[in-house]
Amino acid sequence: MGRRLGQHFLIRQSVLARIADEACPEPGATVVEIGPGRGALTAHLLDRAARVVAIEVDPVLADYLRLKFQHRPNLEIVAADVLKCDLARWAPAAVAGNLPYYITSPILDKTLALGPLLTRAVFLVQLEVAQRLTAPAGSRDYGFLSVHAQLFASVSLLFPVPRAAFRPPPKVDSAVVRLLPRAPDPSLPDPAAFLAFASLCFRHKRKTLRNNLLGPYPKEALDALPAASRRAEQLSIPELAALWRALPPL
Ligand code: SAM
Repeated sequence: MGRRLGQHFLIRQSVLARIADEACPEPGATVVEIGPGRGALTAHLLDRAARVVAIEVDPVLADYLRLKFQHRPNLEIVAADVLKCDLARWAPAAVAGNLPYYITSPILDKTLALGPLLTRAVFLVQLEVAQRLTAPAGSRDYGFLSVHAQLFASVSLLFPVPRAAFRPPPKVDSAVVRLLPRAPDPSLPDPAAFLAFASLCFRHKRKTLRNNLLGPYPKEALDALPAASRRAEQLSIPELAALWRALPPL
């Protein structure tokens, strides 16, 4: 089994049980599991959820899972690349997984794009990503990823997971994060347009907002706004939104 697909399997049962408890706090839920591997987390999810849909890109592992769980009628194995799947097919659902780290960002995008169809998400990710996802404005790790995730969800770092909990042990530290979707903000009716603005704001980390926004936005408009002399990482989501509203629409 190659490591190319991020195949570091979580073997510590206590950690697997905690992830499943967080993904499935109540019975009756559908859980979409991303990257089930050999089914270590799947087994815990099956004990708690009404239905588990497990998406595994490695066809050898998908066949192995079909055999291993042949007597579990509440499991559907989907042998596919999660990035090519329409997760809404199984929604409303919780989404969970010990993620393949090389595609964490697009998986987060896809999960957050479920909007109200997402009940919750619980992911094992690289510790550094967990810190960025949960970072408050003004902190070292706060950036576009924090804004994107926190715009749509209330994000918590639940607990760190040591390297020794995996086989083979990965070269990076890991942590479990939980994303609980937020109700849409009525003052931001077009979140995609706001996120496009936010990505411009964070374009170059050390530059001021004025310098990052100059070009798409006119100099005079930026000079008139005191907040534009600050750096994006100093502004909370409501402050970034206020700046966006104060600028002329693109
Ligand atoms: N959840 C398992 C565990 O904890 O033991 C395995 C997790 S392992 C970190 C990541 C899993 O994601 C592997 O089984 C890998 O084959 C699978 N994977 C990698 N890329 C994928 C993709 N694009 N779509 C679906 N699964 C993928």
